[in-house]
Amino acid sequence: PTVLGIESTCDETAAAVISGRDLASNVVASSMDEHARYGGVIPEIASRAHAEAFVPVVSKALADAGMTIDDVDAIAVSAGPGLAGCLAVGVSGAKALAVAADKPIYGINHVIGHIAVTQLQFGDFPSDALALIVSGGHTSLLHVADVARHVDVVGTTLDDAAGECFDKVARLLGFPYPGGPHIDRHARLGDPHAVRVPQGLTQGRAGHEHPYDFSFSGVKTAVARWVEGRMADGKDVPVDDVCASLAESVSTVLATKAIRGCLAEGSDTLIVGGGFSANSQLREKLIEVGARNGVEVRIPRIDLCTDNGAMVAMLGVNLVEAGIRPSAPDFPIDSSMPLTTISV
Ligand code: ATP
Ligand code: MG
Ligand code: FE
Repeated sequence: PTVLGIESTCDETAAAVISGRDLASNVVASSMDEHARYGGVIPEIASRAHAEAFVPVVSKALADAGMTIDDVDAIAVSAGPGLAGCLAVGVSGAKALAVAADKPIYGINHVIGHIAVTQLQFGDFPSDALALIVSGGHTSLLHVADVARHVDVVGTTLDDAAGECFDKVARLLGFPYPGGPHIDRHARLGDPHAVRVPQGLTQGRAGHEHPYDFSFSGVKTAVARWVEGRMADGKDVPVDDVCASLAESVSTVLATKAIRGCLAEGSDTLIVGGGFSANSQLREKLIEVGARNGVEVRIPRIDLCTDNGAMVAMLGVNLVEAGIRPSAPDFPIDSSMPLTTISV
């Protein structure tokens, strides 16, 4: 099937067309430049930007694919999780297009799209794969029984997401928002063992059945204390070393727990997705730990890690192929959609 995917959960207005497993087009517009000076995404500004970008982005995605809306079999749109005003723009636009062109529409879970997109590069999921989702809002380990029908949460962060932890430390170091990519760049120049950064929750929640939970707020606090201590002593802050040490701590705990989860669940494949999977230290660590333990790690190429329309279209293709019923005409947006909801 051919599916048009539409994304508007946060600052990216994006659309893509996928036919089967072929990416026919992929268009992304971002309002991030307008938010950077505020140190975070301003929902009102982002919503307004979606309203302006929606038609041009969708039109370009169809044109780049050499298609019109008549050529697609279905429309998929992120119905959550995300900023409510942003979701409302994308979902309303997608519904209008679906009605006008008389096409089925699927309201999908953006976060599940982050893992579905790996199919473009690595093919379909093996049965019972595990998936590590690492993004600005999520850090979770999922058991994927069937990406169109059923996923279970095996572990999740008890506080901050990995991307959020990087963004907060970055702010402390004076980098503009979002700081994750800046930490990545500086970490490549530093000594990962120069600063003692604790590893968040190496074991698991005490008395909890899931040993695969994460915690990053203590990591962030420890780095903040160390940096503030240096400043109070009138010493320079070795930014590259701080970044490298933070990246080492976070990537080690993520990779170790995810691969340990694969071994425990008897899964030989780990699917990885979400904006933080663009992080070069995490990518290296996952490949290394995976290879050592005989687990194949599937990480999207960088431009498919951060928010895009292809991830939405790919999950849409899965839903059509699985014969899942399209969403009702009045389907709602859900800004805090749970990971276990794949489509609405
Ligand atoms: P969610 O997908 O959970 O709804 P989101 O869509 O806002 O959240 P994404 O766009 O998937 O999040 O990811 C954005 C996050 O990824 C930010 O926290 C950003 O700092 C982080 N990020 C992007 N590139 C890198 C990188 N190279 N290194 C570290 N972090 C990065
Ligand atoms: Mg974004
Ligand atoms: Fe995302």
